[in-house]
Amino acid sequence: MKGYMLIAGKKVYTQEEIKIFFPYDGSLVGTIPRGKEEDVNLAVESAKVGFEKIKKMTAYERYQCLQRAARIISKRANEFAQLLTLEVGKTIKESMGEVGRAVNTITLSAEEAKRILGEEVPFDAAPGIKNKVGFYRRVPLGIIGCITPFNFPLNLTCHKVAPALAAGNSVIIKPSENTSLVVIKLAEVLIEAGFPPEAVNVVTGYGEEAGDALVRSKDVRMITFTGSVETGKIIMSRGGLKKYAMELGSNAGVYIDEDQDCRLKEIAEKVARGGFALAGQVCISVQRVFVHEKLFDTFIEEITAFSKTLKVGDPRKDDTDMGPVIDENAADRIMEWIEEAKSLGAEIVCGGKRISNTLIEPTVVINVPEKAKLFKKEVFGPVIIVNKVSSIEEGINQVNNSPYGLQAGIFTNNLKNAFKFSEEVECGGIMVNEIPTFRVDQMPYGGVKESGIGREGPHFAIEEMTEIKTICFDLT
Ligand code: NAP
Repeated sequence: MKGYMLIAGKKVYTQEEIKIFFPYDGSLVGTIPRGKEEDVNLAVESAKVGFEKIKKMTAYERYQCLQRAARIISKRANEFAQLLTLEVGKTIKESMGEVGRAVNTITLSAEEAKRILGEEVPFDAAPGIKNKVGFYRRVPLGIIGCITPFNFPLNLTCHKVAPALAAGNSVIIKPSENTSLVVIKLAEVLIEAGFPPEAVNVVTGYGEEAGDALVRSKDVRMITFTGSVETGKIIMSRGGLKKYAMELGSNAGVYIDEDQDCRLKEIAEKVARGGFALAGQVCISVQRVFVHEKLFDTFIEEITAFSKTLKVGDPRKDDTDMGPVIDENAADRIMEWIEEAKSLGAEIVCGGKRISNTLIEPTVVINVPEKAKLFKKEVFGPVIIVNKVSSIEEGINQVNNSPYGLQAGIFTNNLKNAFKFSEEVECGGIMVNEIPTFRVDQMPYGGVKESGIGREGPHFAIEEMTEIKTICFDLT
């Protein structure tokens, strides 16, 4: 499949192309243009026109376009899912799940288009002020640059583009170079659904070229970014005066309290599913598990037994549970980190081997020292570490022992412990009796510490993507 950039509704090609490979076997999926600064400049000119057009649309018209887009994607779910599997390497079950979520995210954004609210300002509540009335409104920012990662290219792009359009902004999308084809399809659907073509632009290419030019553009009023902490920091240091939403990485922790013996099997299965979904390449994958010492040995038996039942292989097959990681470099790094933990005294109790260039066995590593990369950093691969703790206090300390703070989980029947955990753990979201991987698309979602700035979820993204304009009438 030959990809193209989409600027003012026109297909734009470049001489130089970037190849996209199927992570499972390295076969060629397609190509995309290597867009550069001049292409971003064209997209910015288009988005200026697009903004003038979209801001004249009524809220109801924007709602209708988003509803139409959701219906089109829903009808073409299989086609979207197959492309997701080829670009990302996620299993076809996971891809169908992502398409369903994308439809939901667009639908939620459509509904939010109807309730972007302001409020009356009581001007006469200041001393000596009379005969003044007014209010504030939420107005769109203008051009929003949306930079998205490889792991959920469809739904995470929807989390940026759909609220931006719902609020009346125009967008320029720079998708991950690995997974751009599905994003081009999404943009085409949005235009087919009725948005002005100039309001929905896609520039493909490398992050350091096309992405960087978008970040530096003075006409772009906001960068909404999902990706790694490293890239997020670079973007904020280069973009200058504009708004930023940063959805960054994590190494999510979960604590299993001493009273959970009756349902340890069920918890172990949930934890394994949360750690191995999309081969661990989810920003809220369960990476670090802290189990009360009374339950440690049984938990290890349960998680190992379940993890060994997972079928690893070709993501196109219906019965595959876990597919490959995105590329060989990622697999090399993950294997190095496993080896490093081993050399520091950790023990592999399940998996730990590489099956092919990009397939790694679901891996459980225990007693991992704090200085190991598997503990400190985001592994973004199918590896779960499990350590023993002796109290709720130690569980909380260890979950907090991370530069990240996206989501965390606790399993307990003890109300006080649940409350203490939710109060003291520094994260954007706390899941009680659930794994940190749990997310629904309408909830406020985002992190603290190095996990980011701002919240997504259409209602919350719209707050970030609008600004307040105050209007005051003198009636004397
Ligand atoms: P990444 O390497 O940071 O890339 C993300 C996007 O940024 C890509 O489109 C990339 O383009 C672009 N980019 C790279 N350098 C850039 C630059 N200098 N200027 C502008 N754009 C630039 O992340 P990834 O590997 O795709 O995704 C994995 C990361 O995303 C993980 O850390 C994960 O935790 C995080 N994530 C967070 C959330 C969340 O909601 N918090 C959700 C999903 C993923 P290229 O692909 O062309 O380099």
